[in-house]
Amino acid sequence: MSCLKPPLFVLLGLASGLAAAAAPPPAPPAPPPIAIAIHGGAGVIDPDKMTPDKAASYRAGLAAALDAGYAILERGGSSLDAVTTAVRILEDDPQFNAGRGAVLNQDGDAELDAAVMDGHGPRAGAVAGVKHVKNPVDLARLVMERSPHVMMTGDGAEEFALEQGVVLVPRGYFRTHQRIAELEEARQAEKARGSNTGTVGAVALDRAGNLAAATSTGGLTNKHRGRVGDTPIIGAGTYANNQTCAVSGTGYGEYFIRAVLAYDICAMVAYKKMTLAQAVTEELHNKLQAAGGEGGVIAIDPSGEIVMDFNSVGMFRAARDARGRREIAMYRDK
Ligand code: ASP
Repeated sequence: MSCLKPPLFVLLGLASGLAAAAAPPPAPPAPPPIAIAIHGGAGVIDPDKMTPDKAASYRAGLAAALDAGYAILERGGSSLDAVTTAVRILEDDPQFNAGRGAVLNQDGDAELDAAVMDGHGPRAGAVAGVKHVKNPVDLARLVMERSPHVMMTGDGAEEFALEQGVVLVPRGYFRTHQRIAELEEARQAEKARGSNTGTVGAVALDRAGNLAAATSTGGLTNKHRGRVGDTPIIGAGTYANNQTCAVSGTGYGEYFIRAVLAYDICAMVAYKKMTLAQAVTEELHNKLQAAGGEGGVIAIDPSGEIVMDFNSVGMFRAARDARGRREIAMYRDK
């Protein structure tokens, strides 16, 4: 007697209507886990020399880069665009050791290193020892996107820059009074390197789930000409892989290179199934510390979890995410 039964779709419709009437209003969709973190170098940020004006100026520099990068993610832009934009802004800010205001080598020149890595692929680009490229991070990205290579150095990298139409500047553009004075101090102390801060970097996660990292630096004060640090070495100072994490490091580069530190953090996540925070702690406070190295990292994982940590006195750093976190800090206290 099927004709007496209401058709199934009527029953279903009734049921779903009742359910809709009883159910609470649907929760707003969770915000996509976009997030960005940046650093402006780790090392001795002497609290006695940090005047309120200076602190405010560093904070303003970090905030400008952080918010510009975040705005790109918010508009649905890529993590690669976000990290290159944030790093470019820090390169143009003479307070930081990258681009204008980079520290000077033994000859009094800025010799700049930079790298970018796109966790999708993954693919990477880097430049080392360039002396006339206004924004080395942009050139690193061009190496990745418009050449079959991963890394170019010195004159060859600058020739490529010329071909690609990137802005080249005279060497004097990079040399600020402060860096000239610091070099003089380091020379008098006959230090092969200065203890300095200011290398810049960024890591980000975009709406599509792509991770990216970028780092840029002048390296160490009074370094030997030709010295290359960890920054442009993929896996040492810069690394990104969508499956695990993105990392940008800062500190005494030689230690980061020997530890292959950025890659090792992501390897801990991949192979040992550590959380990002556990992996960073292991690498910085056990491995790097035991080797006598000093520095810090910013790192992000595919869920948007950000870790910013260091074993030095301080690290200029900032983070922002879709859950409302926005933080700018220098010392251990937030
Ligand atoms: N890691 C950079 C280098 O060794 C310097 C720094 O981060 O301050 O070249």
